[in-house]
Amino acid sequence: MKRAPTFSQLTDAYLFQEVLDRANIFQKKHPHVEILSLGVGDTTEPLIPQVTERLTTFSSAMGERKTYRGYGPEQGLVELRKEIASVLYNNRYSHDEIFISDGAKCDISRLIQLLTYNGSVAIQDPTYPCYVEISALCAQASITYLTGIPDLSQAPRSSLIFLCNPNNPTGTAFTYEQLETMVNTARERKQLIMIDVAYRSFIQDDLPRSIYEIPGADQVAIEIGSFSKMAGFSSVRLGWTVVPHALVYDDGSSVHEDVLRLYNSLFNGAPILSQEAAIAALSPNGRKALQKQTESYLQRTRQLREALTPRFPSVQGGTHCPYLWVRTEQTSSWEAFDYFLEKAHLIVMPGIGFGPGGEGFVRVSGFPRQEIIDKACRNIETL
Ligand code: PLP
Repeated sequence: MKRAPTFSQLTDAYLFQEVLDRANIFQKKHPHVEILSLGVGDTTEPLIPQVTERLTTFSSAMGERKTYRGYGPEQGLVELRKEIASVLYNNRYSHDEIFISDGAKCDISRLIQLLTYNGSVAIQDPTYPCYVEISALCAQASITYLTGIPDLSQAPRSSLIFLCNPNNPTGTAFTYEQLETMVNTARERKQLIMIDVAYRSFIQDDLPRSIYEIPGADQVAIEIGSFSKMAGFSSVRLGWTVVPHALVYDDGSSVHEDVLRLYNSLFNGAPILSQEAAIAALSPNGRKALQKQTESYLQRTRQLREALTPRFPSVQGGTHCPYLWVRTEQTSSWEAFDYFLEKAHLIVMPGIGFGPGGEGFVRVSGFPRQEIIDKACRNIETL
């Protein structure tokens, strides 16, 4: 069998390896130094009790002949879809418009099949790198980068647009007006928006948590959510996607029908265990407990921001997402990475790993455990 050309066209997945290699070299030279990682975007708080109780009860029931369950519906449990429609979307959509996935990343790689092979994709820059990789790998798409606040008039007509709100890595969230402009431009240019709201639970104030707060968005947007950051499900695995019935292709045919077809053909449903756990997470007590977790990650991010600001006054983000986006005096983000490692013994993520617009920046994560944050802040103060 011949190797598909798409693989050789991908950029090397060198980022994490290079980060580890540089940290290892530094550690060998300085064996007594404690290196602290502010690089990872993974959650560190344990699952809430409402979730662990449900996982335990469900596991026991699966071991009994009377309560054992096999395959569930491909689109997900109706009870969970109804909960998501009610708790997260105020019943603006019916459960029929919600698809339960095994996580946002997995669903994006399924949904990309909606794009014609060799179609065009426009991607916010900098952002979560998987949109570029999936577009290149699964659709051999031509890619346009939209640097800063995305101006959709710069993206090809009828293209697929990837947005991330709030954005990983910059930690910023769109205002109502910014989203409104994007929705109106997409409608005019017949573009389809795929918006990833994996960090939506961190959005504060009155900023929109869903693109569907903008009138007309249901005609142009698919919204992809995740329980990974919202409920610490990065290993449990669960996400959802909203595909409104109002969303149609250029020729007027239904996108929802095709997503349903994709789910039936490519997927046998998310693990029922994870879906049961998600129902518990969305219960009133579950939501209260999750709110506390969210606040604690944001508090850690604020603590880091206070430590960083005197040295890096232009630090952005951290209010609506537990990431800080830091511009340093170094022109390259790898030089900035070395600076943090050598001078403060901290691992941060080089901004270039998030797209060309990330050059010169680093991403600092507020997800690590509190004791790491405390130590990291003391190291930052010595800079
Ligand atoms: N979307 C964004 C913006 C992310 O940063 C991440 C993980 O870091 C994901 C999606 C992955 O979500 P999931 O675990 O649901 O696949």
